[in-house]
Amino acid sequence: MRLLQVKQLTKVYGEHIATDHVSFELQAHTSTALIGPNGAGKTTTLSMLAGLVTPTSGTIQFGETSKHDIRSVIGFLPQYPKFFPWLSALEFTEMAARLSGVSAKKSFIEAQKTLEFVGLNDAIHKKTGTFSGGMKQRLGLAQAIVHQPKLLLLDEPVSALDPVGRRQVMDLLKELQQQTTILYSTHILNDAEEMTDQLLFLRQGKLVEYGSLDEVRLRYAEPKIVIEFE
Ligand code: ATP
Repeated sequence: MRLLQVKQLTKVYGEHIATDHVSFELQAHTSTALIGPNGAGKTTTLSMLAGLVTPTSGTIQFGETSKHDIRSVIGFLPQYPKFFPWLSALEFTEMAARLSGVSAKKSFIEAQKTLEFVGLNDAIHKKTGTFSGGMKQRLGLAQAIVHQPKLLLLDEPVSALDPVGRRQVMDLLKELQQQTTILYSTHILNDAEEMTDQLLFLRQGKLVEYGSLDEVRLRYAEPKIVIEFE
């Protein structure tokens, strides 16, 4: 089932074209990697899908959802998430739940459950300002999923992490893949190999490759060299 359809999505900043007529679809319950070098337009694409940046032109069709409801069906982890250092992890996640439309009655329990899921059970009452980079990234993930979004957008979720932190977040994402649709950006092909049904390859704002990992690999495959002996 198709969850999202993006057509000719373009963002122009002054003279600079950040994304140039990008079109793709996401099927429900799949995981898609948005790959590309620095400046390719990954953050711009995710920010437009999250409703944080207004496209210059093009359309984003998200099922039957109106623009008004988008916050409740999308979860977004920015590349550099901001936390309020004086709030505890629980207070922060509860606030995120409320902002995403979870009722006051449910937000406390949902925040607790989500923090447990991301492995921050022992730190729920600690101030976020005391968190390590890895803990912050898991807290960022918690705020993005606390309202059980249909689409989870993650901007370079593991790029800044050490190997242990990276493993923890990748394992969480694999679990989340069962429940939601994931679109995440990375500039590392290895990340995509681990968890990807579909690959979108951006370069200088243009979508230059689009397909399954195997399809993309095939297109890039070297011609086989056959050595024949007489
Ligand atoms: P990175 O991997 O470095 O995060 P990216 O693929 O996410 O890169 P974007 O951040 O989307 O790329 O940027 C795409 C292009 O648009 C870049 O050339 C960037 O300088 C430009 N750009 C992004 N945001 C703005 C802005 N607010 N104003 C002007 N130019 C911008």
